[in-house]
Amino acid sequence: MPSVAVVGGSLGGLTTALLLRDAGCRVHVYERSPIPLEARGAGIAVLAQTLRYAVERLAVPPEQISTETGWVRFLHSDGSIAHTEPRSYRFSAWNTIYRVLRNALADECYQQGWELTSFTSADRHVRLDFTNGEVRDADLLVCADGIGSASRQRMFPEAAPSYAGYVGWRGTVPEADLSPATYEALHDALTYQVLPHSHILVYPIPGPDGNLEPGRRLLNMVWYRNVPEPDLPAFLTDRHGVRRTVSLPPNHPRQEQIDEMREVAAQLLAPPIAEVVTSVPEPFVQAVYDVAVTGMARGRACLVGDAAFGVRPHAAAGTAKAAEDGWVLAEELVRADGDVDVAVARWERRQLALGASLLARTRAIGDSSQCRGDFQPGDPRLVFGLYGPGR
Ligand SMILES: Cc1cc2nc3c(=O)[nH]c(=O)nc-3n(C[C@H](O)[C@H](O)[C@H](O)COP(=O)(O)OP(=O)(O)OC[C@H]3O[C@@H](n4cnc5c(N)ncnc54)[C@H](O)[C@@H]3O)c2cc1C
Repeated sequence: MPSVAVVGGSLGGLTTALLLRDAGCRVHVYERSPIPLEARGAGIAVLAQTLRYAVERLAVPPEQISTETGWVRFLHSDGSIAHTEPRSYRFSAWNTIYRVLRNALADECYQQGWELTSFTSADRHVRLDFTNGEVRDADLLVCADGIGSASRQRMFPEAAPSYAGYVGWRGTVPEADLSPATYEALHDALTYQVLPHSHILVYPIPGPDGNLEPGRRLLNMVWYRNVPEPDLPAFLTDRHGVRRTVSLPPNHPRQEQIDEMREVAAQLLAPPIAEVVTSVPEPFVQAVYDVAVTGMARGRACLVGDAAFGVRPHAAAGTAKAAEDGWVLAEELVRADGDVDVAVARWERRQLALGASLLARTRAIGDSSQCRGDFQPGDPRLVFGLYGPGR
């Protein structure tokens, strides 16, 4: 089996590394961040594919690492119920899943503070150069370096991220800090509110220590708000004056942005949702981008997760797609008896089709909500899923 270098040690890179290791590859992960990643705290809706490695290979039951809600509810702005339907979803926190996966990979296979600067793919192997001056070789390079992937830019320069026209305000608040009425209204459901050219979701996720007991978890909010493209550079300038391109992490949005967001929340959102939004101590922002690639591999380098297709979050399938890229790559490598070129070609065909269809689906949902304004409570397109609504 080939030696594999994985660049990017988040959920996509880690899952792929573990699967390739299990398939018999010698694997090393190189992650740019020098500090432990556990501090990254966003809540995520999780599909079966996101949890699949933990469940199937580590025997960790889903109920140990994710919350479950039984209802989808849409609220009117006065807090009354506009629509409700029984539907089961699971939610977790990025760091809960990360912790489980990271613990499954030996420390000597996971290097932090290693930032890839360039690579050259020739003669059936890849040479990797890092900012710390180190050089490594591998038979296959897996680039899992996220939405801003420099590897994608190198391999497919025409596939630039295209801004979707809106950002997601995100954050969490302990259930215990909310009023009993708000807890009662929100704790057992995925709760939406649809506003003109905007929508918001609230759902329970595990507590910071992984606590899953209702009342001791966190409520997570994601509020999609339009920011016209010409205003984006100013919007993404943080409180220290640094111009960012993708996100304003916790403690980085300017106070006047937070004040404006809370003010509008208090005016427009249903009372329980408004209470969550205005109580989030450290709200942060991520701009939403589409990225379409025409290929996922060049020579001995390939792209997985957001480094390949960047899809809007409305199918809750970003981490599932990243994981699926890893599962299928491992499957094709085994099927091809370790022949990298054969395996990668087959893999690329399958994953290109998946990425393109998910991108089209999530674009349609986002455009309906944020642009056309014809987004309806209970719209069946909204059912989460990687291969289609509910699949
Ligand atoms: C508002 C919003 C809400 C979302 N909600 C959900 C949800 O509910 N469910 C869901 O499944 N998904 C959701 N997503 C999507 C999800 O966050 C991404 O799809 C997922 O994080 C992609 O994982 P990844 O491993 O491909 O990339 P990332 O998580 O972005 O990781 C990339 C890693 O690469 C590292 N890196 C970058 N460059 C280099 C380099 N040169 N050298 C070494 N390392 C490098 C970075 O430090 C980082 O650790 C949401 C996204 C947004 C914007």
